[in-house]
Amino acid sequence: MKRDYYEVLGVSRSVSKDEIKKAYRKLAMKYHPDKNPGDSEAEEHFKEVNEAYEVLSNEDKRRRYDQFGHAGVGSSASSQGGAYGAGAGDINDIFSAFSDMFGGGARSGGGSPFGFEDVFGGGARRSRSSAGVRGNDLKIRLKLSLEEISKGVEKTIKIKKQIPCEVCQGTGSKTGELETCSTCQGAGEVRQASKTMFGQFVNITACPTCGGEGKVVKERCTSCHGEGIKQGETTVKVNIPAGVEEGNYLTLRGQGNAGPRGGGNGDLIVVIEEMPHKLFVRRGNDVIYNLPVSYPDMILGTKVEVPTLDGRVKLTVPQGTQPNTMLRINGKGIGHLKSPGRGDHLVRVNVYVPKELSHRDKELLKEMKKSDHLVPDEKTDHEKSFFEKAKDIFG
Ligand SMILES: [Zn+2]
Ligand SMILES: [Zn+2]
Repeated sequence: MKRDYYEVLGVSRSVSKDEIKKAYRKLAMKYHPDKNPGDSEAEEHFKEVNEAYEVLSNEDKRRRYDQFGHAGVGSSASSQGGAYGAGAGDINDIFSAFSDMFGGGARSGGGSPFGFEDVFGGGARRSRSSAGVRGNDLKIRLKLSLEEISKGVEKTIKIKKQIPCEVCQGTGSKTGELETCSTCQGAGEVRQASKTMFGQFVNITACPTCGGEGKVVKERCTSCHGEGIKQGETTVKVNIPAGVEEGNYLTLRGQGNAGPRGGGNGDLIVVIEEMPHKLFVRRGNDVIYNLPVSYPDMILGTKVEVPTLDGRVKLTVPQGTQPNTMLRINGKGIGHLKSPGRGDHLVRVNVYVPKELSHRDKELLKEMKKSDHLVPDEKTDHEKSFFEKAKDIFG
């Protein structure tokens, strides 16, 4: 059975709103978990006191409660099952509501008169009120060549971004003076108690007056119209590791837009764009290069020089090389992003078939055809080429 709310707060049914508040403060102080560490009974009392206060401090709810009892305040009735088994999350909500009641002592920076600062001062809220509103993140695209990606590169980029106004030193105020926002008393956020006592009963939103900064400008700086920020330009050095690829991004903390009126900087997000290479195709950390070789060189073998990301490298095309053979040059590919070492440079060897021929070329080729070795034998070479193909597909 739920206890009567008036009984919980130890007040009469005709009590005034102020007296309810007074009684609540006293009991909340008494049963506050910070004062009763590890005492689960005190915690239950604390919750009970909060629930009673939540209903009796609200005129509408109090009237319904007076008329219909617990059933009149639907939320309490339905919360009965889970209410007292509430977990840590709910306790935090209670602290939030509790801290609101006492005028947000923890937030104003002067320290809570009740000594609950550690409990009340949620990390997020505290950093928010001291740092104001953070600047926006800035996203830029950075084009990189395959050569740059293969070994990593340091880039110096010029970017347009919001920087603090130099006239007002980023305060947005002509006189340099700021006033505490009267809507939120400097908290930067506005809270509304919703009807459920346990669970989601405190609704927190950014203060509409100061936009969450907790402070308002007394007299606006004319240069930046009170924003404290202006469009500017800066250069940023970015170290790109080897092995990045299209769509990867790097986040540079605090290099984004400056926040209005002294708020912290946003982040700079650098999105990698990989420029297509004139000669090479990337496959993972390997690089593929297509090498056309003349028909006689395929048969006889040859030594060639091929371009790689590291410059030209000597390569032997062995005697009897078949079309589409991949030759591998170790370690000339792209550096691994997460481990040492590099991929390989792969050379795909293909037969060069000329489109134009001189009369003499034709004579020579016709002469070649007279040799039995230079034309495929239907019986043996047909089968062989089938297996070669199968090897290409499944190998
Ligand atoms: Zn300014
Ligand atoms: Zn405000």
